[in-house]
Amino acid sequence: MKEENFSEWYNDVIERAGLSDKRYPVKGMNVWRPYGWKLMLNIDRIIREECNKRNFDEVCFPLLIPEEQFKKEKEHIKGFDEQVYWVTKAGENLLDVPLLLRPTSETAMYPMFALWVRSHSDLPLRTYQIVNTFRYETKQTRPFVRVREIHFFEAHTCHTDFEDAEHQIKEYYEILKNVAEKLCLPYILTKRPDWDKFAGAFYSVGIDTIMPSGKTLQIGSIHQYRENFSKAYDIKYEDEKGGHNFVHQTTYGMSERLVGAVIGVHGDEKGLVLPPGIAPVQIVIVPIFKKENEKTVKDECEKVKKMLKDFRVELDCRELTPGSKYYDWELKGVPLRIEIGPRDVKKQCAVFVRRDNGEKFEVKMEKIVEEAGKTLKNIEADLLKKAEKLLKSRLKKFEKLEEAKNFDGIVKTGWCGKENCGLDTEEKLDMKTLGAPVEKEKFKGKCASCGKDTDVVVYMARTY
Ligand code: ZN
Repeated sequence: MKEENFSEWYNDVIERAGLSDKRYPVKGMNVWRPYGWKLMLNIDRIIREECNKRNFDEVCFPLLIPEEQFKKEKEHIKGFDEQVYWVTKAGENLLDVPLLLRPTSETAMYPMFALWVRSHSDLPLRTYQIVNTFRYETKQTRPFVRVREIHFFEAHTCHTDFEDAEHQIKEYYEILKNVAEKLCLPYILTKRPDWDKFAGAFYSVGIDTIMPSGKTLQIGSIHQYRENFSKAYDIKYEDEKGGHNFVHQTTYGMSERLVGAVIGVHGDEKGLVLPPGIAPVQIVIVPIFKKENEKTVKDECEKVKKMLKDFRVELDCRELTPGSKYYDWELKGVPLRIEIGPRDVKKQCAVFVRRDNGEKFEVKMEKIVEEAGKTLKNIEADLLKKAEKLLKSRLKKFEKLEEAKNFDGIVKTGWCGKENCGLDTEEKLDMKTLGAPVEKEKFKGKCASCGKDTDVVVYMARTY
């Protein structure tokens, strides 16, 4: 069912696995259910660790932004105007200054940055926050992928010059690499074409992964602002010689779409398949017993649970058949199941079952901790390998657009760099331009639209 009807499979698995509830009476604002929220928090934890070890400071800015503050950067408002939720009334009073719910936090943070940054010794200023943002999406909403209240990570930095800001962007790539590895998600980095860059940015880099349908899902973005915002918000520093300069800025954003990508890329007919690094439950122990040996088996399971205390372990002692327990935990995507029955107790072993490939094998009790760790590592490596294979198979170079049109994946083709040609190719393929790969690729070909020789390759795809 996943292959034939991805959308239906996706919505169904989210509901049945207990990730989120979309029955909340505001469209596009879903309720995080406990299992889904644990999953999100595990992802947040990894992002926090990556930022904190690089000495970013976590901050938390107010949700509401005054209208005049929002309107200072002209390009930025144009990009978000249609998507803003306004607060105009408090109690019975109309507000003198209308307030808006942050769609992203540049305009909340930068007036404060202007107060915080005084001299070159205050730089670089590197902050991030993980908060909810609000965007009035007009396209069809979809849990985690297109919602109106978005769980959002945003890093914002200020630098003395362009080079230092560029350096920061390289560091974002390292953070991304480490986070994506834990999520077992391969991705591609492309510089978005000018007509699709972030509102107010000097350039934008899109982070895209591919779903089994062949459509890409943008899971994050990285932006170089240069002085575009600092000029609008007057963020200046005094250099060693007493001169006053505008700071250069960057941002890096990722959202709950990471959860959507994990569901879509790894899931299968039985439900979720969660990478061990983020699974709320990494190991589930299922006792298998009859009345006469119930206590022996359960005691053994308790013992094993204690041995595995360094993992996120659940012992399932519900009054259900082992079969229905397997069904539940498979649906929830728990990476490793350990079955223990009376014969295993006698032999002093347990049966391991991998969620990702169904592999089943016996493990000696004295090796159980070591083997559990090894198995989870193997699952992580295999999930990433499998996903990389999917991405590779869906990335293809085409000389003729006619042949590319029906390809379910990312089309590589030549582009002379003119906007008209890019838009023309988009229309002919019914795809969007992801952009030119950040890591330059050797290419020799012709622009897919005008036929001019070019060494620039561009990635095109249908997108979520
Ligand atoms: Zn052209």
